[in-house]
Amino acid sequence: MSEIKTIAVFTSGGDAPGMNAAIRAVVRAGIYYGKKVYGIYRGYDGMIQGEFEELGARSVSHIIQRGGTILKSARSAEFRTKEGRKKAYDNLKKFNIDALIAIGGDGSFRGLNIFDQEYDMPSICIPGTIDNDLPGTDYTIGYDTATNTAVDAIDKIRDTALSHHRLFFIEVMGRDSGQIAINSGLAGGSVAILIPEEKTSIDELVFKLHQTAKSDKKSSLVIIAEGGKSGSAMDIAKQVTEKFSYFDAKVTILGHLQRGGKPTYFDRVLASKFGVAAVEGLLNGVRDVMTGIQGNKIVYNSFDVISKLKPDIDHESYRISKILSI
Ligand code: ADP
Repeated sequence: MSEIKTIAVFTSGGDAPGMNAAIRAVVRAGIYYGKKVYGIYRGYDGMIQGEFEELGARSVSHIIQRGGTILKSARSAEFRTKEGRKKAYDNLKKFNIDALIAIGGDGSFRGLNIFDQEYDMPSICIPGTIDNDLPGTDYTIGYDTATNTAVDAIDKIRDTALSHHRLFFIEVMGRDSGQIAINSGLAGGSVAILIPEEKTSIDELVFKLHQTAKSDKKSSLVIIAEGGKSGSAMDIAKQVTEKFSYFDAKVTILGHLQRGGKPTYFDRVLASKFGVAAVEGLLNGVRDVMTGIQGNKIVYNSFDVISKLKPDIDHESYRISKILSI
C-alpha cells in the first residue's frame, strides 16, 4: 500500500451541528501527522466540479462552536453515475489526493464504498446526522444538539400549554427514526411519544389522555416523530380532537430549527474524537469503514457490517417514558 500524503475531507447529505468540529479535527489531525489536507466544497457535487481548497490549521479556527458546515453540503445525483464518479476521480488525481474522509450519513458511506471499489481510494466515513439512525454507533454527530434543541422548544411550549390548559402535539425531526422523539419526549416530560418503529393507535392515545386528564393533569404534550405511520402531527391532532375535547389542542412543527445552532459539548467532543479516529485509521491502513462510538469506545465498522445491520432505537428510554407519563 502506498503511503498517504494528502487527505480530502467533505460534508455530504443533510447538515448536522458538530460537522464543523469534525472538519476541524480532521484538518488538524492530518496536519499534526504531517499530511496535506484539502477541503472539498458541496460534497460529491463539489468533487465532480473541482471545488477543492487546501486547509491549514488556521483555516479551521473559530468553527468548533458553529452549526452548519463551512464546507457546505449537497446531494449529488451525478455521483450516482459512473461518468460522475470518473470526473470526481480525475479531480482528486489533479490534487494528488490519496484518501477521503466524508462526514455524512449512510448514503454518503455507500458513495465512498462504491468509489473505493472502482478507484481503489482509501476512505472513512464519519457519521453525521441529527437522526441518530445509523447502525454501528450509539451516537451520530448532531443528534445530541438536535435533541437538546427539541427539549428547549418543548419546555417553552409547556409554559404556554400550562397557562391555557392546552394539549399540544409537537412534531420533531428524525426521518424514519423515532430517536429524537423518544429522548426529547422523555426529557420534556411528554404524556405520549409516537414513533415510526411502533404503532400507537388513536384510541390508545385518546384513552391515555382521558386517564391523565381525570387525574387532574392541567396540560399535555404529545411528541410525534415526523416519519410516524399514524400520520403527521396535524393528522393525529385532527383524529384525536374528534374524540377528546377536554383540552384546547394546538400543533407545533419544530422542523429545521432542530438542524441549526451551536453544537453541544457532547457533539463537539464526539466530532473531535471521530475526526482524529478517521485520520489515524487511514494512516494505519484502515479503510471502507465508518467510525462509531459503542459503550464509550471508538470503533471502526466496515461497510459490509454496517450495510447488514438495522438501526435500533433507545428502547430503555422509550420504556421509561411510558412508566413516567402516567
Ligand atoms: P446521507 O449521507 O445523509 O444519507 P444521502 O442519502 O442523500 O445522504 O447521500 C449523500 C450522497 O451520497 C448522495 O447525494 C449521493 O451523491 C451519494 N450516494 C448515495 N448513495 C449512493 C450510491 N448508491 N452510489 C453513489 N453515490 C451515492
